[in-house]
Amino acid sequence: MRSIQMVDLKQQYQNIKDEIDAAVLKVLESSAFINGPEVQEFAASLAQYNDVKHVIPCANGTDALQISMMALGLKPGDEVITPSFTFIATAEVIALLNLKPVFVDVDAKTFCLDPQEIEKAITPKTKAIVPVHLYGQAAPMEEIMDIARRHNLYVIEDNAQAIGGAYIYADGSKKKTGSIGTIGTTSFFPSKNLGGYGDGGAIMTNDDALANQLKMVANHGQSKRYYHDLVGCNSRLDTIQAAILNIKLRHLDSYIDARRKVADYYDAAFAGNSKITTPFRAAYSHHVFHQYTLILEGVDRDQLQQYLASKNIPSMIYYPVPAHRQQMFQQFISSNVNLPVTDWLTERVISLPIHTEMQEEQLNFIVESVLSFVNL
Ligand SMILES: *Cc1c(COP(=O)(O)O)cnc(C)c1O
Repeated sequence: MRSIQMVDLKQQYQNIKDEIDAAVLKVLESSAFINGPEVQEFAASLAQYNDVKHVIPCANGTDALQISMMALGLKPGDEVITPSFTFIATAEVIALLNLKPVFVDVDAKTFCLDPQEIEKAITPKTKAIVPVHLYGQAAPMEEIMDIARRHNLYVIEDNAQAIGGAYIYADGSKKKTGSIGTIGTTSFFPSKNLGGYGDGGAIMTNDDALANQLKMVANHGQSKRYYHDLVGCNSRLDTIQAAILNIKLRHLDSYIDARRKVADYYDAAFAGNSKITTPFRAAYSHHVFHQYTLILEGVDRDQLQQYLASKNIPSMIYYPVPAHRQQMFQQFISSNVNLPVTDWLTERVISLPIHTEMQEEQLNFIVESVLSFVNL
């Protein structure tokens, strides 16, 4: 049995080494390290894959969110609704741009924004909603888009954890996550479902004018070379990363299948255990299992983690402190922000290893170890 990792990037590389090495060598030989042809090639391939008109590559998923909010012309004091139960980047860029993060509770089953709570949080200053497709599960986009239409709000989908996922509409039609809102953003951080070998990110939209604005913001506010119309930033995807991502995009669907098989295996093994709730699979979501996250009841989570660690089984808490309890936000939020579901989940969730190269033997060992501790 290979040693168990949360994500086994080494083994994944070994299995596609020939393709990757050739693509990287080609970039080295061309030496077009910035904006080489692979960057536009990748943008076009990703646009086609995700069924969206424009893909603007950038330096990372955090920049993708920031550039989106800048391109939409959000102004200091504007309110942006976002979950607290997420990676910090989502809310951090809101505060960085002097916008006001308005934290809204999530649904205890889906881990994603609760539409009823969104509605309650809307004020005349609300300008945008940033749903996060957390752990690879699509947020309830049909309801979110309906709220956005009624209140004239932008929607920026944080799709960093769900690239390749889809939202399934009531009539059975499907749309890829990231292609539904005003803008979708994603990250190619190595451990993400579509990960590069360094940092990377992308922004997607179906709106032509907005795509131009996004490109300008990402490139020093430049409209033509050395003419700068607005204050932007410098955020690019390296050619080497684009070359790697071009290869990995071809494998993404099979990688998602592999992740879903791991999730199926865990689901079956933990089914019926009264202390373990396996991830809820919303009927409207094609879940891509960036994380496999359990909710524990009546289990000492720290002790379980220590027990697993003693058997060389890694596990993670995503995330141990929700955004609304982070020190960085204490100046931004009122003291009466009350997110009971977020707090409840924060104390109970645990994520188990899930990746594209897991062996049955490893899964068996993880399941046996979890159950032997939980059933003690
Ligand atoms: C990873 C992640 C980001 C940030 O991506 P980086 O590429 O690390 O900047 C943003 N939002 C969510 C939900 C993420 O998981």
